[in-house]
Amino acid sequence: MLLDNALIMRVKNRACSLHYCLLIVVLFLPFNLFSQKVRETKRQRICLIDSYNSNFPTYIHSAKAIQEFIDTTHYHIDVEFMNSKEFVDDVYVQHFHDFLSYKLSKRKPYDLFLVADDYALEYVLKYEQDLFKGKPIVFWGINNIDLARKQNANAHCTGVVEDISIKETINLAKTLNPKLEEMYVISDNSESGKTDLNRVLNLKGYNTAINVHELNLAELSFSEFETNLKKLKGEKALLLLSLYRDKDFKYKPFYEGLDFLKKNSDLPIYHLWKHGLNEGIVGGFLIHHYRQTQEALKIADQILKGKAIEEIPVLEESPNQCYLDYKELKKAKLVPSTFPSDWIVINKPSSFIQMSRKYAYLILSVGLLVFGLLFFFIYYAKRENLLKNELIQAQLDASKVDELKNAFLNNISHEIRTPMNGILGFAEFLASPDVSMEDRVSYLDIISENSNQLLNVVNEIVDIAKVQSGHSDIKMELIDIDGLLSDMEREYKKIADQKNLEIRLIKNISVKKVCADRLYLQKIFRNLIDNAIKFTDDGCVEIGYDKKGDLIEFYVKDTGIGISEDLFKTIFENFRQVQESDIREYGGLGLGLSITRAFVKSMGGKVWVESVENVGSCFYFTLPYVDYDPALLINPNVFCEVN
Ligand code: ADP
Repeated sequence: MLLDNALIMRVKNRACSLHYCLLIVVLFLPFNLFSQKVRETKRQRICLIDSYNSNFPTYIHSAKAIQEFIDTTHYHIDVEFMNSKEFVDDVYVQHFHDFLSYKLSKRKPYDLFLVADDYALEYVLKYEQDLFKGKPIVFWGINNIDLARKQNANAHCTGVVEDISIKETINLAKTLNPKLEEMYVISDNSESGKTDLNRVLNLKGYNTAINVHELNLAELSFSEFETNLKKLKGEKALLLLSLYRDKDFKYKPFYEGLDFLKKNSDLPIYHLWKHGLNEGIVGGFLIHHYRQTQEALKIADQILKGKAIEEIPVLEESPNQCYLDYKELKKAKLVPSTFPSDWIVINKPSSFIQMSRKYAYLILSVGLLVFGLLFFFIYYAKRENLLKNELIQAQLDASKVDELKNAFLNNISHEIRTPMNGILGFAEFLASPDVSMEDRVSYLDIISENSNQLLNVVNEIVDIAKVQSGHSDIKMELIDIDGLLSDMEREYKKIADQKNLEIRLIKNISVKKVCADRLYLQKIFRNLIDNAIKFTDDGCVEIGYDKKGDLIEFYVKDTGIGISEDLFKTIFENFRQVQESDIREYGGLGLGLSITRAFVKSMGGKVWVESVENVGSCFYFTLPYVDYDPALLINPNVFCEVN
């Protein structure tokens, strides 16, 4: 029961797909064999009369050929099915005839009739004068060779014979199984079955090594056939011709018949038509309805282009081909050591090279996938690490900024309180009437010195605030370098003397003027010279300059405590001091160099340091050099790129 249901489903599915094929054939047929030039305006009309129905296995191959070779922009095609395997009674035949006659009387006349298989050809020839008079008829799939040959004398009919390859298939069976002695030919009560059986029986004795027997449903019911079939064992084979109808006219569609055969016998099944291949038959020299139809359509094309039918003889050679199913051969233990190159073997396992190529592709794809994933994960992990590090760095920076701010607050309170205390303390002393004139003068000096110190602190804070707010009141002018630096030397001579330091100015006669903001330039030198004196206990402080390409390079060099190389950059940041400790040996706010850097940058230059610890430091800065030209004095900014 289950099997029956499965069978019904399979038949239904096949019917369904065949109906789709039919629909495609009738409605969409988009391909060409027929010449595009046959008719541009009016489509020629073709009617196919098929012996069977759209479910019939040969039809699917014919439909494929029609679909591929007929261009529906030039041809209209209708299909009429005779259902001859299913209905053979006279009543049905009469109904079909009436039905077709009615259709032909109502439709526009056809230009050509295609006829598939014997039953339809016999019918068409019978009614040629009534229904198809004078119309070209092209057939294919005709087993009745005599009837087909006769059409060479018919001025309206030609086509392709379906010449089954009986001898070749019997030889093939013997080649595959040299021990084979008995071959059972299965035929039935259908017209084509009878015709084919006769042809096999005519060849009886052709291969003396094989005894050919009939297993004929024309004389047996399906159940009698089943009983006989089950008895067959050993070195035997089946040659399936037809299994549609038993002696009681009971009908089985092709695939149902094939399943019935497989269920009741383990013998290898040979066939002469391509349908059934990959469905349980071992193989054979098979007729391919696709090729049959293709040949017939070529003939039809010639006729519609105007060639006389008399000039086209019936094609008697069938383009048959040896097909085998490896799976079935293996089941029947018939796999030969080698296959001749002209045999087509389906379901053959891939060769080693093909297999290894297949595996190579597979391994390559898997490898690529794994590599891709690995790359992604490594990239992802690295990125995550990077982000983590950035986060840690940001946290460290934030805490460093906090530290620096605290240090700055400590410094500033120290830098303001110390001179303030000095000023207030000595001012009080001054108020005392007992203080001598000499002491008063020295107190006033101290007060003035502390006031200057305080003023410096206030100036630095104001400068850094200006720089940070981006508010700059820069005024560029041509400045006499010697004059400015000689003033500086004089200003610092006294302070340097107090520390027993020599202060030296190295003049350069090749450079006279620099384009800069005078106040900025003075502040830059003051910051650098202050530091040089502050961080030097003995030796000298040297100031100099030189022309380097388009730039003037200034320097302030000392023989002081020096700076370790890892701090060369950081000392130019706000609040940075090498001696970041509570012991305020040198004083200062840690702002001088960051102000210097900002001023130099705003005038288009760069600042950097070279230093060796305990040997000394040299601070350099550059400014763009402008050749002396009186015109520059009118508008020096034209020549100075100020950022
Ligand atoms: P400060 O007010 O502390 O001098 P600066 O910004 O001018 O601030 O300098 C930052 C730090 O750079 C100083 O605290 C000192 O550690 C270092 N420094 C600057 N100039 C010199 C120098 N000529 N010799 C040694 N160290 C120096």
